[in-house]
Amino acid sequence: MSADVSALQVALPLPLPRLFDYRPPAGVAAAPALVGCRVRVPFGPRELVGVVASVGAAPDGAPELREALACLDDAPLLRGELFESLRWLSRYNHAPLGEVLASALPAALRRGEPLPDTHAWAWRLTEAGATALPGLRAGSRPRRLADLLQASGRDAHALEESVLEALMQDWRGAARSLGKRALVERIAMPASQLAPAPQPGPEANAEQAEAIAAIREAQAGERAGFAALLLDGVTGSGKTEVYLQAIADCLARGRQALVLVPEIGLTPQLLSRFRARLGVPVHATHSGLNDGERARTWAAALRGEARVVVGTRSAVFTPLPEAGLIVIDEEHDGSYKQQDGIRYHARDFALVRGKALGVPVLLGSATPSLESLHNARAGRYAHLRLSRRAGEARPPRVRVLDVRKRPLDAGLSPELLDAAGKAVAAGGQVLVFKNRRGYAPVLLCHDCGWSAQCRRCSTPLQGTPMTVHGGGRRLQCHHCGARQPVPLACPDCASLALQPQGIGTERIEELLARRFDAVPVLRIDRGSTRRRGALEKHLETFGTQPGVLIGTQMLAKGHDLPNLTLVCVVGIDEGLFSADFRAAEKLAQLLIQVAGRAGRADKPGEVLLQTHHPDHPLLQTLIAGGYHAFAEAELLQREAAGFPPFAHLALLRAEAKHVDAPMQFLRAAKDMLSPFVVPSPFEKGGSRGICSSAEDNRQPQQQIPPSPPSPKGGATVIELHGPLPAPMPRRAGMHRAQLLVSAATRRTLHGALDGAIPALYGLPEARKVRWSLDVDPVDL
Ligand code: ADP
Ligand code: ZN
Ligand code: ZN
Repeated sequence: MSADVSALQVALPLPLPRLFDYRPPAGVAAAPALVGCRVRVPFGPRELVGVVASVGAAPDGAPELREALACLDDAPLLRGELFESLRWLSRYNHAPLGEVLASALPAALRRGEPLPDTHAWAWRLTEAGATALPGLRAGSRPRRLADLLQASGRDAHALEESVLEALMQDWRGAARSLGKRALVERIAMPASQLAPAPQPGPEANAEQAEAIAAIREAQAGERAGFAALLLDGVTGSGKTEVYLQAIADCLARGRQALVLVPEIGLTPQLLSRFRARLGVPVHATHSGLNDGERARTWAAALRGEARVVVGTRSAVFTPLPEAGLIVIDEEHDGSYKQQDGIRYHARDFALVRGKALGVPVLLGSATPSLESLHNARAGRYAHLRLSRRAGEARPPRVRVLDVRKRPLDAGLSPELLDAAGKAVAAGGQVLVFKNRRGYAPVLLCHDCGWSAQCRRCSTPLQGTPMTVHGGGRRLQCHHCGARQPVPLACPDCASLALQPQGIGTERIEELLARRFDAVPVLRIDRGSTRRRGALEKHLETFGTQPGVLIGTQMLAKGHDLPNLTLVCVVGIDEGLFSADFRAAEKLAQLLIQVAGRAGRADKPGEVLLQTHHPDHPLLQTLIAGGYHAFAEAELLQREAAGFPPFAHLALLRAEAKHVDAPMQFLRAAKDMLSPFVVPSPFEKGGSRGICSSAEDNRQPQQQIPPSPPSPKGGATVIELHGPLPAPMPRRAGMHRAQLLVSAATRRTLHGALDGAIPALYGLPEARKVRWSLDVDPVDL
């Protein structure tokens, strides 16, 4: 083949750091217009779907190129800013472009399905329906739906599905039954702006008005363009109101808005609030939707039809051809970090996109991440504060309950139970928050100390306890999901004295249900709300009557509980003594967020923290000075120890069935990285924890995209820690180890990774393991 024949360089979803050359499909010219289109190509005996990354001459002397089978798109699916940002992500994560694109595209498109139709679907009352309407039983669901359609008047008694969603629960069932009798029909309408007329919100208070003005300035002022704004407002201070105003401004300028929310924050409550207020269809995208629905939202955004997209982590990959604003609610939330595959951080990638798009990015939280606070302090982010709760609500009173030497029943102290009793008697609701699910964490033999361990995850040196579930009949491993029945007797000493140790939400529920038998007692955790919509149903039935809720993280935010007057937090002591350097930050955020659930409406709230460590500095600082006092103290400690955000980390992980393979691979990787290692810290007067060199703190840090690292550029000095067995050295039968890379600046870190990572793919040791690189890891 001669060198002048044009070829397609295709990014394929394979763990190989390269593109693959193909001849264009028969009858298609290799024109630049193909870049960003999907192609189906032969790969060995298989067929794969990839994306054309570039078009160029076939490499000289290359073996005969295979021909792509088909081009799947008439116009590039990936183009402009989104494609460029994804290329950036591939470089930044040191991950193959094909794998990055595969995780960014909705599953249906990844499989090669055509870009879906994005007609809006609507339901219309037929003529027969209009005639039959008066005969439908008054108050029945079909009648209510028929009435809604009849009253809509617009577009011949039709309403879009997204509008129906906001107006009526369970409308689908009613539509189905009316449809069977041909009284209504489903029709495709050109995507329209049909939506309920926007409702006005409350008048902004002074702090909100100031924040709204600052965001307006960033969107449309003289220096409009990319800006990061941290909306730092206590729970209930009206952050969502500020988002809604900013989005309304964005829509008024004819632009699209993207809103990211945490996994458990994307509630029907939130969506209907957005839909009611904005007056345009609001597209939601989250893991509860099927592949077709997700692809449709993506396509509607690509075509500019979706004006507001609200979604969880992966919504950060939504195309925004007419972008105007990106909002990230609860920016500190851990669910923004993807924990396998391409380990991106949705908040950080949103900032990269905002910069590339030239639009402001608004980060909101009552408990901002230390990274974001650090950026705000350094002047890289505008810092907008909402210091008071909006409306009537007062901040809750927080008390520490010392339970040392107190008799505990199901882990609850008499003082806690008393307080709960008083709150219920006064007509309020009580939330008992326990950060762990299951009946009881471990099964222990009272006679010999044996405890049930997962056979697939434990090693001789480190056990992984199985937890007791199913009312005490079943053991389950929380790490790999393995299940087994509870043994009748101790396998080691045959004693029958096997007892569940530690207290889970089910035990607490049992006790509270007995004690408060006159009011509803409801347990909310993943176990009790596995089915979609189950949580909403439970909470709706629960209502605002006096009662007791027992919950885990799922209840820490999202759902409004206006009659909640007392929050009791139990089981926090484990979080006070964790090896993870982020544990304190996570616990502080959780405590503040849970406390924020109390007293949201006109009733004052109270929070009780039950602990064996009432003098712990974290609790003392939080209670005396609030989250910001804690954050100040914690940032000082991070700086002294050389932890993020004062250092930059990457974690190389490896796992294998064979016990030695991960360490062997990581030792080989360490050899590749060692040319970049800092000279002995002792020559420079001692190490400062994991990062001995704190030079150049003025470099753009965390979240702001760095300039592309130069392969040879500057002093590439890093530190290597390990390899070591992972915190959980065995999981689902795999042995796991890790190597931590740290550097004082991003540039340094990426210089070293650029130099070493590509060569890892070719190591003989790499063939025996599954390995991955996590840039900016959150769990070490
Ligand atoms: P956040 O997002 O900070 O938790 P929200 O925006 O949800 O706060 O506001 C909390 C409550 O206060 C909501 O019920 C909201 O309607 C109300 N609220 C917000 N801003 C105002 C305001 N300016 N005046 C009166 N009520 C407000
Ligand atoms: Zn025993
Ligand atoms: Zn296990």
